[in-house]
Amino acid sequence: MKITEHIKNAAGKTLFSFELIPPLKGQSIKGIYDAIDPLMEFKPPFIDVTSLREDFIYKQHDNGLLEKLSYRKRPGTIAICAAIMNKYKVDTVPHLLCGGFTKDETENGLVDLQFLGIENVLVLRGDARRGDASFVPTPNGHNYATDLLQQVVNMNNGIYLHEHNDDSLKTDFCIGIAGYPEKHFEAPNLKTDFKYLKQKVDMGANFIVTQMFFDNQKYFDFVNNCRANGINVPIIPGLKPVTNSKQLIGLAKTFHIDMPEDLCDAVNGCKSEKDVRDIGVEWMINQCRELMAFGVPVLHFYTMSNAGPTKRIAEAIF
Ligand code: FAD
Repeated sequence: MKITEHIKNAAGKTLFSFELIPPLKGQSIKGIYDAIDPLMEFKPPFIDVTSLREDFIYKQHDNGLLEKLSYRKRPGTIAICAAIMNKYKVDTVPHLLCGGFTKDETENGLVDLQFLGIENVLVLRGDARRGDASFVPTPNGHNYATDLLQQVVNMNNGIYLHEHNDDSLKTDFCIGIAGYPEKHFEAPNLKTDFKYLKQKVDMGANFIVTQMFFDNQKYFDFVNNCRANGINVPIIPGLKPVTNSKQLIGLAKTFHIDMPEDLCDAVNGCKSEKDVRDIGVEWMINQCRELMAFGVPVLHFYTMSNAGPTKRIAEAIF
């Protein structure tokens, strides 16, 4: 079922969902099941599986020269989505990236998704590879999420890369996109970022999932700004509890977000990492309660494939 239908059917009740990262190449899918099993009691209608672009390794040659090679550490997004659907009978949302995929590979991937009965996708540009100063598009790939979105919308209209248009070959994907309550770090200002967000919704995106945030006011302002700009699709808050003290700086730096002073003070006052985890969970429980009161459609957790903290939060609020 489509995410938008799940939200409609919930009739105002807040849903619970979460995101998983594919295991490293060669590892078993058991790690994925171990991350899902403890959370199934909270009845997620859908589970997201991230996609990761290739990384670089440097190979030293006999002549001393270093060769830069790229490889993909964590493939398998589509297969994991299919396995989850099969085992748990819940919908899955594979993340689709511009980076690392040619347009043809994307089309073939979407055809696979359609055969598998996967109805939702989250369309993203992807980040720069480690070692690249900024995002480098894949040759014959897409530059921006808008371009990738256009490809999915085209297929929903029966338009493929090389075939003639054919109405009987339409796919029917429900399309999600990313939103940034604290602005995407490359955007010069919020207004420009909003321009592209609105463009994506006008092009046919059906729902937005936000970057993580630790101050609900940022999300409330973002939603109000969206509504004022005619963006009326569901806006799902993406949430991640702090689980260790290094994350105060790590999350802020990686995701270009602010960490509230009160949260920093509380974490800095902790005597052990266990205390930090407790503070992180407590902070998130309070955030979730406030978000539910605001009427969010879904609480969506970035679990990083570790169910523990999310389970504690879900136990407290559902
Ligand atoms: P875009 O929409 O392409 O935006 C990138 C920048 O370009 C922004 O500054 C925007 O303002 C600007 N821009 C947008 N469109 C245009 C245009 N047409 N012309 C000029 N400028 C434009 N990353 C992964 O690698 N794998 C994942 O699975 C993954 N999942 C994510 C899930 C969520 C919910 C979120 C919020 C992020 C996720 N990311 C993931 C990170 C994401 O890929 C990065 O934040 C990336 O830097 C931007 O992606 P985007 O889709 O927002 O890009």
